[in-house]
Parts: sequence; C-alpha cells; structure tokens
Amino acid sequence: MESWLDILLKWFRENKRRFSWREYRDWYRVLVAEVMLIRTRSETVEKIYRGFLEKFPKPEDLCNASIEEIENFFKRIGLVNRARKLREAICLVISKYGGELPCLYEELLKLPGVGRYVARVLLTKVCRKPVPFVDGNIARFARRFLGVNNMSIEDVELWLEKAVPTEILESVNIALLDFSAIICKAKNPRCDSCPLRTLCSYGAGLKP
Ligand code: SF4
Repeated sequence: MESWLDILLKWFRENKRRFSWREYRDWYRVLVAEVMLIRTRSETVEKIYRGFLEKFPKPEDLCNASIEEIENFFKRIGLVNRARKLREAICLVISKYGGELPCLYEELLKLPGVGRYVARVLLTKVCRKPVPFVDGNIARFARRFLGVNNMSIEDVELWLEKAVPTEILESVNIALLDFSAIICKAKNPRCDSCPLRTLCSYGAGLKP
C-alpha cells in the first residue's frame, strides 16, 4: 500500500505550481521572495518578483537603493511597509556577515523582517539544512489529516520532522504548500477528488 508521502509526491510531480523563486537557492533571491510572500498570495508576488530582481540584481544594489525606489515596487502589491525591513536585512547580511547568510537559526531570526517561517525556509533552501517550514495552510491540512484540531504550528513542525525522512523533507514541504492551496483549501476542500482521502481523518468521516 502506498504511503501518504508517496501519494503526495506523485500528486506534486503532476500538479506542482511553478513560481520564479522556486528555482533559486542563493540567499538574496530566496530572502526577497520569502519576505514578499509573508501572508501574501504567491500569484500576487509573482507580479513584481522578476521585475524587482531586474532592478536590483545583487544585494548591494538593494542595499544602496533609496527607500522610495524599493517602496515603489512593494506599493504595486500593497506591501509598502515591507520595503524598509527588507533593505535593512540585506544591508545587515552585507555589513555584519560579509555578504554570506549566517546559517544559524538564532542568527537568522535577528534579521529584520525574518520570523520563524522565513528563517526555516532559508535554513532549508540556502543552508541545505532541511527543517519543516509550516504556514497556516499546511497546519490546516495537518489538523484535518490527523484529526487533531488543536495542533499548533510547532506541533505540525514536530510531526513532519518525525514523519518525513530528511532527504525528502524539502520536496514534501513544497508539495504540501501546493496541495493545501489547491486541494485541501480553507473553504470547500476538494475531498471528493483528493488522492489522500482514504488516509485522511477528515475525509474518511465524510459521506461517500
Ligand atoms: S480528504 Fe479533504 S480534508 Fe483530507 S487531505 Fe484531502 S482535501 Fe484535505
């Protein structure tokens, strides 16, 4: 019998969303994307991401830019207050860490605008130290799938750490981002066509 991980990764191979930032692993482009993505839809960020990197191709370009120039990009997607923190974080990596991302969780959390989720993405993608990065969508999927309503983000991270082998953790995590956005949606989850339905506590409780 196929495991839920096998089923999820098969679904992901056939249905993955393609966003510009997914191909990158350098700290600058990953950090820019993840700060833009905080509580913001991926499709919205996609509207400005490539243009932003064309305007500011290197960390130094962003650090030396005026705040107005940066804000002009963020304004287009209604996130103007992120501009200042992003520039501060980029400048700090250059001035304090010599342009290399500090690959320690506690150090990453000290960067302006970088919280738990973004720090964990950076650890996984840039530092190649895979850890689960769980947003509200993935947490919702986990609660439904396991049938445990009161799981916190930290609980879900611990569950994934134990349930997923390290070598596939990053792929599984990105698959879960897509799966929870497309299938296990907040409103009207697509349980009828869900490949995980027979293994899911919530799905198993639904009438056929
Ligand atoms: S069966 Fe429904 S609740 Fe369960 S994982 Fe699939 S979409 Fe989500």
